[in-house]
Order: sequence, then C-alpha cells, then structure tokens
Amino acid sequence: MKITNAEFIISNSDVSKCPNEPLPEYAFIGRSNVGKSSLINMLTNHKNLAKTSGRPGKTQLINHFKINLNWYLVDLPGYGYARVSKKTKEVFQKFITDYFETRQQLVCAFVLIDIRLEAQKIDLEFITYLGETEVPFCIVFTKADKIGKVKAQQNVAAYTKKLLANNWAEMPQYFITSSTDKTGKEEILTYIDEINQV
Ligand code: GDP
Repeated sequence: MKITNAEFIISNSDVSKCPNEPLPEYAFIGRSNVGKSSLINMLTNHKNLAKTSGRPGKTQLINHFKINLNWYLVDLPGYGYARVSKKTKEVFQKFITDYFETRQQLVCAFVLIDIRLEAQKIDLEFITYLGETEVPFCIVFTKADKIGKVKAQQNVAAYTKKLLANNWAEMPQYFITSSTDKTGKEEILTYIDEINQV
C-alpha cells in the first residue's frame, strides 16, 4: 500500500469523542522514546505528522490520523515512566484502557519494542493485558539499524523465548523496523492493506 493521504483529525482523552465513522483502526503504542513518532512518520511519508520528542513522559493524548480516506492510524501515549512499579491498570491512564476495552473500530494494536533491549517488565505486562483483553496485536521491533542483522535475529529469538515462558503459545506476528533506513515499512503497510481488503 502506498500512503497518498494522511491527515490529522483529532486528539482527545475521551474515547467517546474519538471519530465515530466505522473505519478500521490500527493503534501504535510503546514505551516513551521507543521510536513511535519516527515510525508513524516513516509509514506515512511525513517528516512531522506525529511529533517526535526529546521530552519523554510528556502529556499525550489519543491522536487519530485518517489515512488514504479509508482507515485510521491511532497514535497512543507512550508509557513506562512511572517511577514505582504499578499494576498495568494504574500505569496506563484510564482513557487508554477504555480505548482498548471499548473501541469497536480497533483492528490491531502495534506494540513497539526497542530491539536492542532485553524484554522489559512493563512491555510484558502490557502484552499480557492485551491478551487478557483479547485485543489482536503485533510486535514492532524498532531501531534495528542500531544493531547488526545477526544480533537482531538473536534478540528476536530471546524475546520469543521470553513470551513463550510467559504463557504465550506462540510468538505473535512481528516486524523488524528502522525508521532511519525504512526497514519494515512495506511489510507493515502490506499487512494492514491485506486486513483492510478482507
Ligand atoms: P517516541 O517517544 O516513541 O515517539 O520516540 P521518537 O520517535 O521521538 O524517537 C526517540 C529517539 O529515538 C529520537 O532521538 C529518534 O531520532 C530516535 N529513533 C527513533 N527511531 C529510530 C530508528 O529507527 N533508528 C535510530 N537510529 N534512531 C531512531
């Protein structure tokens, strides 16, 4: 799929105020600084559609972008800056859990993971939460240009092992990406396109 039109529609912290058109929706979420804004800009061919920021943990909202007039890309707030370990429900503001628990249009969540890091507790907790909530999701490994291909495969294998040890029957669909060299762009867009065609 080629993205020819990407338009910011609305930001808010109230799920009931999200666009109410029956268009399929794909949400992007991950720890602050994981590279989410860069990935969204890469996917949409924009330099600054999503605001890249050096200020982790800044107040963020649910941001809806309409793509090619027929689906929504949803930029959700970064998580993971809570100093003390809290339960998922407390770490994620209520409007985020409301989003996952009530949003009918949501087709798939893309959970971003920095490929360089060992599995982080908060990401594993979040993935468990998505499983319990029965939200379909994929994993997007980011910043692959920062390590070699062999190391990337090793880290994905280690992540897979960790998920299997966390009671997952199999590794979900995943993508290895780099916003710097556009790795993974076509794969993610093709994946979305194929679901939208069904
Ligand atoms: P966000 O907080 O998750 O939206 O993350 P940003 O997109 O703002 O990126 C955080 C930092 O990581 C910035 O300094 C980006 O330039 C850098 N970054 C993001 N994606 C990549 C990538 O694919 N490769 C490299 N080398 N750096 C990246």
